[in-house]
Amino acid sequence: MVSTQYEKFSNKPSFNLWYHPLYTAGIHDEARFPKFRYQMVLKMLKQSKEFKKMSIQKPDPISRKSLLLAHDENYVDAFLKGKLNEKEMRRIGLTPWTPKMIERTLCLTGGAVNATIHAIKYGGITGNMAGGTHHAHRDFGSGYCVFNDLAISAKYALENQGLKRVVILDLDVHQGDGTATILANDVRTRTISVHCSTNFPFRKSVSDFDLPIEPESGDDLYLEKVREAVKLSLDFEPDIVLFQAGVDGLEHDHLGKLNVTKEGMKIRNQYVFQKMLDCRIPTVIFMGGGYSKPIVHTIDSFYDLFIDASIWNERWWNQSI
Ligand SMILES: [Zn+2]
Repeated sequence: MVSTQYEKFSNKPSFNLWYHPLYTAGIHDEARFPKFRYQMVLKMLKQSKEFKKMSIQKPDPISRKSLLLAHDENYVDAFLKGKLNEKEMRRIGLTPWTPKMIERTLCLTGGAVNATIHAIKYGGITGNMAGGTHHAHRDFGSGYCVFNDLAISAKYALENQGLKRVVILDLDVHQGDGTATILANDVRTRTISVHCSTNFPFRKSVSDFDLPIEPESGDDLYLEKVREAVKLSLDFEPDIVLFQAGVDGLEHDHLGKLNVTKEGMKIRNQYVFQKMLDCRIPTVIFMGGGYSKPIVHTIDSFYDLFIDASIWNERWWNQSI
């Protein structure tokens, strides 16, 4: 039997996507990071005919208590008080930091938890138009990642929402090393990472399942590993899948080392969405990496990702009404 809330919401099957202007504005102009990608993707989505299938939501800044679900108290407090040292900040990157960096991080991580709660409550596909901060470890940040939104959302779903099993399906070209270490001893989670074998992080962690790919691999091998990763996800019979959907495996990516085409990336996303739809597993998109030069290739692929999410989300609702 479906709940009243579920029925009520099914009349408006929007693809809910969390976004805040601080995702771009919270990063310094001199930082070596393509910060405009967030507002560029949103602008493109707004111009599409599918935009009517979407609903842009404002994130609630995450609470300190929620951060502590996955992070060390001393690290959390040092960041919140602006007291990380030079070395710790350099390891995270996005430097020089602006005073808005703290608020940005809280919004970005809060958006991930908001999207997760919504998917748990209503089903379908939701997303956060930033994050996928899989290089953040329990007591330090790394590789553009301050706090690990995937690990926090997984813990939040298990501790506060009554879920039993959560899969983290990480298809970004870099290994989800922080997620793997934070969730290593939690049998309620399954961490799966498809990534380029010779890429950052150079010292890999151990996920529940690591599926490394040789550099320069193209669509065929990448998609074979994606299918394997999806099978491993479904075998766990999760209540929800947290999908790190980085597009830095693209052939034009500056940091990627793989040769996945724009079409291959689309096939990847559609395969994930279809399999999760077939099994009625709510899915949350964490945006992940994308650093192509020029950046337009990254923008195009993120645009494809969110458009397909809105289409498959609509299918979810059409099948349930
Ligand atoms: Zn990446």
